[in-house]
Formats: sequence, structure tokens, C-alpha cells
Amino acid sequence: MDCRVAVIGAGAAGLVCACKAAGRGGVLLLEGNDKPGRKLLATGNGRCNLTNLNISPDDYWGDPLLEGFIKSWPSERVTGMFRELGLLTRADGEGRVYPASLQAAAAAGALVSACREKGVQTMYGFRAVKIVRERRGFVITGDKGSTVRAKYCVLACGGLASPGHSRGEGYSLAESLGHTVTELSPSLVGLRVRGKFTRALKGVRCRAGAALWHKGKELSRESGEVIFGDGSVSGICVMDLSAHMRGLGGGAELRLDFLEQLSVRELESYLESFAAAHPERPAEELFSGAVNLRLGRELMKLLGLRGAAGELGPGQIKKAAGIVKGLALPVEGTLGWEHAQVTAGGVPLCEADPNTMESRKCPGLYICGEMLDADGRCGGYNLHWAFCTGAAAGERLG
Ligand SMILES: Cc1cc2nc3c(=O)[nH]c(=O)nc-3n(C[C@H](O)[C@H](O)[C@H](O)COP(=O)(O)OP(=O)(O)OC[C@H]3O[C@@H](n4cnc5c(N)ncnc54)[C@H](O)[C@@H]3O)c2cc1C
Repeated sequence: MDCRVAVIGAGAAGLVCACKAAGRGGVLLLEGNDKPGRKLLATGNGRCNLTNLNISPDDYWGDPLLEGFIKSWPSERVTGMFRELGLLTRADGEGRVYPASLQAAAAAGALVSACREKGVQTMYGFRAVKIVRERRGFVITGDKGSTVRAKYCVLACGGLASPGHSRGEGYSLAESLGHTVTELSPSLVGLRVRGKFTRALKGVRCRAGAALWHKGKELSRESGEVIFGDGSVSGICVMDLSAHMRGLGGGAELRLDFLEQLSVRELESYLESFAAAHPERPAEELFSGAVNLRLGRELMKLLGLRGAAGELGPGQIKKAAGIVKGLALPVEGTLGWEHAQVTAGGVPLCEADPNTMESRKCPGLYICGEMLDADGRCGGYNLHWAFCTGAAAGERLG
């Protein structure tokens, strides 16, 4: 089959790209799955957090070259684009933007319908396994042996995160066309921690300040809800910290502060007055008025403090305050690709034109979305990146 533009991958970036490129006709969307936009349906817990009102380059990690591009794509460009496709959006109190219906299916549906209206042709169940650059364009071979010829080719194959949705085949296709790929690691993912401490806390959710340390240095700090699993800690703030795990090797530590609103000294004084006012209560209840009850009991077990609250000496109160303000858990790694929302690393941005996403290594090739070396924090930043880079490539080709 011949076409003007072959877009490989009907995810967030590929759907927007196909839609924008359709103005000049001849667009073919190739998708390995039997349906388009499958990952989109799973985003934001089925609600699709599609952008954020507060987009800034500081919300992204990866290649520093993304700064100029992100500045030229404020959230209104994305919400405006969806409005043109027939989808209204709404923001929550923290700036996270969703479809007005809070349904990811509405966002995916708007993109798929717009592609259909604009005459984009589709081949689902076509998994590209080989791309050859010829004088007049590209020959793309699918896993079942069929071929597609296209003047322009867009790689929008996603990354390695959540392998049930995308498996990172785009990277080797890009490499076969002259690109490099930086180290890839799972990002926006929970952390695996050593020791038995978390076992009894499985399912406990609480607010905390969370900081990632490596070899005595604080790498990053976030605040929010943490969720304990058996051998793991997750929650949005921990997932944001996971972006800093790239290339660390061993020696990382997660430090949790369960009472950010009090200084260590203020907490000591509260615990002293608690013990003085309730001397008969068991020591294991020392934290009962301050932190999650299950968490408080496990922290006291960790400290090994027994007896009555009134028997605790100043040194023990100090240790107790110290553990609430800075529980240190050795990090063994992340929960891996299966649980990750996005890929850190990818094709370096210097290998593409920052305005159009056209390859500087292979003329006529465009690369967009998660395949590029850019990953953002939780809150709509990664879909924003996918939509904007897809739109930039599509506008150029449209
Ligand atoms: C559970 C979950 C929830 C998330 N929630 C949010 C959220 O609320 N907000 C947010 O900003 N981000 C979220 N993300 C991240 C976001 O989904 C990704 O950043 C985004 O989908 C990347 O878009 P993409 O188009 O680059 O890749 P994808 O959406 O992964 O699309 C790539 C497409 O290419 C297809 N494909 C791959 N290789 C081939 C091939 N060789 N041939 C043909 N087709 C191929 C795949 O099947 C897939 O359909 C979430 C991720 C996960 C896993």
C-alpha cells in the first residue's frame, strides 16, 4: 500500500499527529494492536489527565533542549486543540486537566473520530518490524510480512513503560534509521525498599514529605500521599522521585517525614507533653494522636520501645521524634516497567528539529511522544508532551 504519511502508533502522539497531518490527505495510521488508543483509556485511572494548567520546563526531566518547545506549548494550546475536536475539558484544584466527562474514552473517542472525519486511513493489527529508507521515502514491513510505502514516516511507538500497552519496539526502528537512544529506565513508578518494615503496613496511605537520597546527598524532595505495599512504597510523590533513579546504581535511600508541619523540636515537645499527660498509656500509643495508627505502632516496634509512656526517658523521646521526622528506607530499585507510567530516556532531542520533530539523521522521518528523551512528573505532563510533539510533527506534514 502507498501513502504520503505513515504514522506508526495510534497512541496519544500518533493520533494527534495523524489528525493534524490529514489536511493534505494521504495519511495512513499503523497500529500493532487491534484497536487505537488503548493506553489512553488506562490513563488517569480511566479519566485521562491530558494536560496541566501549570506547564513549565521544570516539570520535566530528560534532555534540557525541551525547554524552548515546552514554553511554546502552554496547556491552552492542548485544551484548545481538544475543543476543536469536540471535547470540553475541566481542571481540578491542582491544575490537572481532564475531559469534562472525566472519561478517558471521551478523549480517545474524540481523536479517533476526528481522524476518521479527516479521511485518515487505518491499518490496525499492523506491527512495524522493519523500516528501510529509500530514495523516494520509506518501506515499512509489518510482522505479517505486508509492506507499506510512504513518502514520510512518523515514529510514535511509545516507550517501554506498561508493556501491556507498548513494548518499546520504536527504539530499535529509530536506531536502524541512524538514531541513538540514551539509557532507558522506568519512571513514575513505586520504589522497592529493603527490609520487613513495610510488610505490616500493606495498604496504609498517609501524607508525608518524601526525599530521595543517594550517597549522603538529597537528590529531590516531594510532598503528598504515600502508599505502602509489601516491600514497596508508592504514591504520586514517590513516583515523581522515581524519575531520579536513572543511572543511580545502588545506595539510594527514601526518607519519609510523617509530620511535615512540625519541626523535630516541636514534635519532641509534643511527645514529652503526651507522655507526661498520659503516663499510664502503653508506649506503643505514643504516636496515636499524631500519625496513622498502624504506622505509629510499627514505628514504635522498630524503635523497640515498650512499657508505659510515662517511663520513656528524654533520649527515647528524641529517638521517637527522629523516626517520625526521618524514617530512612534503603531503596533496592523501582517496581519496574510493569508498574511504570513512562520511560525515562529515549531518542535525544538534539537528533530532531525542536519545532517539527523531524529527524536530523534521516530526512522525512519524524519522532514524537514517549520515544523522545523527555519525561514529566505525574499530573498530565506526559500526555501533554505526547500531544504537543505529535501536533508539531502533524502540523508540519499537514
Ligand atoms: C497506567 C498509566 C496511566 C497514565 N496516566 C497518565 C495521565 O493521566 N496523564 C499523563 O500525562 N500521562 C499518563 N500516563 C503516561 C502516558 O500514557 C504516556 O506518556 C503517553 O501515552 C505516551 O504517548 P505515546 O503516543 O508516545 O505512546 P503510547 O500512548 O504508548 O502509544 C504508542 C502506540 O504505538 C503502538 N506501537 C508501538 N510499537 C508499534 C509498532 N512497531 N508498530 C505499530 N504500532 C506500534 C502501541 O501499540 C501504542 O498504541 C500514564 C501511563 C500509564 C501506563
